[in-house]
Amino acid sequence: MKSLQDPVAKLTGVGAKTADALATLEINTIGDLLTYFPSRYDDFAPTNLEQAADKQKVTVHGTIISEPLLTRFGYHRNRLAFRLTAGHGVVNVVYFNQPYLKKQAVLNADVTVLGTWNRGRQEIMGAKLVSANNEQSMGAIYPVNKHVRQATLRKLIKQAFNKYSDVIATLLPIHLRQQYQLLDRKTMIHDMHFPKDGAAAKAARRTAAYEEFFLFQLRLQAIRLAHRQEDGNRILYNNSELRDFIKTIPFELTHAQKRVVNEICRDLRSPYQMNRLLQGDVGSGKTIVAAIAIYATIIAGYQAALMAPTEILANQHATKLAKIFAGTHVHVGLLTGSMTAKEHRLFLEKVASGEINLIIGTHALIQDPVHFANLGLAIIDEQHRFGVQQRQLLREKGKSPDVLAMTATPIPRTLAITSYGEMDVSVIDEMPQGRLPVKTTWLKSDQSEQALMFLKNQLAQGAQAYVVSPLIEQSEKLDVQNATDLYERYAQYFEPQYKVGLLHGRMDADEKGQAMRSFADGKIDVLVATTVIEVGVDNPNATVMLIYDADRFGLAQLHQLRGRVGRGDKQSYCLLVADPKTEEGVARMKTMVATTDGFVVAQKDLELRGSGDILGKKQSGVPDFKVGDPIADLKMLQVARSDAENLLKTPDWDKKDENQPLVLYLQRHELSTHFD
Ligand code: ADP
Ligand code: MG
Repeated sequence: MKSLQDPVAKLTGVGAKTADALATLEINTIGDLLTYFPSRYDDFAPTNLEQAADKQKVTVHGTIISEPLLTRFGYHRNRLAFRLTAGHGVVNVVYFNQPYLKKQAVLNADVTVLGTWNRGRQEIMGAKLVSANNEQSMGAIYPVNKHVRQATLRKLIKQAFNKYSDVIATLLPIHLRQQYQLLDRKTMIHDMHFPKDGAAAKAARRTAAYEEFFLFQLRLQAIRLAHRQEDGNRILYNNSELRDFIKTIPFELTHAQKRVVNEICRDLRSPYQMNRLLQGDVGSGKTIVAAIAIYATIIAGYQAALMAPTEILANQHATKLAKIFAGTHVHVGLLTGSMTAKEHRLFLEKVASGEINLIIGTHALIQDPVHFANLGLAIIDEQHRFGVQQRQLLREKGKSPDVLAMTATPIPRTLAITSYGEMDVSVIDEMPQGRLPVKTTWLKSDQSEQALMFLKNQLAQGAQAYVVSPLIEQSEKLDVQNATDLYERYAQYFEPQYKVGLLHGRMDADEKGQAMRSFADGKIDVLVATTVIEVGVDNPNATVMLIYDADRFGLAQLHQLRGRVGRGDKQSYCLLVADPKTEEGVARMKTMVATTDGFVVAQKDLELRGSGDILGKKQSGVPDFKVGDPIADLKMLQVARSDAENLLKTPDWDKKDENQPLVLYLQRHELSTHFD
């Protein structure tokens, strides 16, 4: 039985050596070979020379009608010339320094010449020469390395297709193929490698990209639905009681907040275990959404837990939520490291008995011998700060509690539906009304005096400022040194009129806490810091963010830093001092100046890094697709996601004959999210 899983060694002429060489391109099976697609094509469609402009790239099919002449001149230089019939006339063709073409270029041979047209001399300066015995008009060009030659690959793919084309099963369900007018798999693979023209290549690529996205999403969604099979709690809260609580909130929820509240509440009531990511830019109002979910959980008789990455943030949440829930059934308990043994014991007892029903803390929540009476909802704030392991531990504190992970890190949609594809994603893509966008200015370093004057001016008006010192890649020690130097210069310049403080990662927790509190209380006017500015520190009076050597920071980081200001109703400013040395660096500065929208910034970030080196793309977390471009083809990726989801939800989809290739595909990948 032939199968696409057969090793490439099944092909004629493929021994151990060739197989090893192919393996360097990650081609091991016939299937790998057939889906090793060209990166581009040479267009062999003939050019009408009578209409061709001087210096135009042209392609001509013709017969060689003069004995090709190879002339050598100078060291290693030579010229091959012959006359060629072209359409109704005859042209001269010359190739420089490609003496090996003499083998192909023989009198009376039919060839295709690709080159540059010299109109005055009616001559083509040849770049490529192809024997015209293949009928395709497009020549596939494959990405190769030093182990595998272009011609070898082309020959093997041809052989593989001829031998195996009858076992190429179509994976995409017929209704999707009809809906999007996609090709069957055999035609798609044929036309990817051997298209008859540009249109055929394009159509094949479209099918290939969709198939790739669809299979990827099918695997992710299969995992997601498998999670959903686990029994969760039905959190059956009283709707009007929840509505009454929402009415007590002193502001009107944004449309986006209302939408995500609905999404979360639907999950809470359902018998499934929720596994949802709530994404919203800094300041978009995630806390109140969490509060509503907590309230619903607690009035339904369950407990809720909220885990934050730092004590400062846990503290802030406890204070805020205690205020929001004053006079309700919600009893807030904060687990801290500074509790006495007795306080701690009492706290644990109250949690175990259910007397405390909203438990807030850091990762101590999962390390401590905390036993919940009946945990219904676990919320993780700033989820990217926690590992998968820690999230799992919190989940295990209850009997299948619903999980809500919140993050301020803007996730471009591409990432949200690839890297977080097994989670449901809710997005707050709207800011509360009345926020003033932070005004961002980019200054060159020889204008940094201006930044200092501006800062001085703002301080005189009572503002507080963050000053972020340059980042030295991969050296925390040097970063600290930098911050310390900058701090000393600032202290000399501003003190005693204004108080300058210092904050960096090597200070101990007490020192850090002290610096943050002094800043929050207004005892420090200028806080010089490394990027280790703790999350969640909210000082609405801070209105200036000055970042030195801003081009050393990535866009995401710059956006997060800028998010420290603009949190109150006062106009805030962000000053970027930078002399970017690359175009990409300039683009980053321009993006920061142009927008304060975290999504736009994140999308731009992905584009800039995606178009850069492969490493950068890998680091961005987007899976490496072979054909589809998750950024350019985002729409298609989204469509593929819902198509995959719908298919999996169709009763008995896996029993239908036509879906058997897909079922086999899923089994072979054992529901793996690893993308091959
Ligand atoms: P984040 O999403 O960064 O956690 P928060 O939840 O801390 O943001 O909200 C930031 C501020 O905006 C808080 O002071 C909160 O009370 C306020 N806020 C949230 N939603 C709204 C709204 N719809 N209208 C006005 N203010 C809001
Ligand atoms: Mg928050």
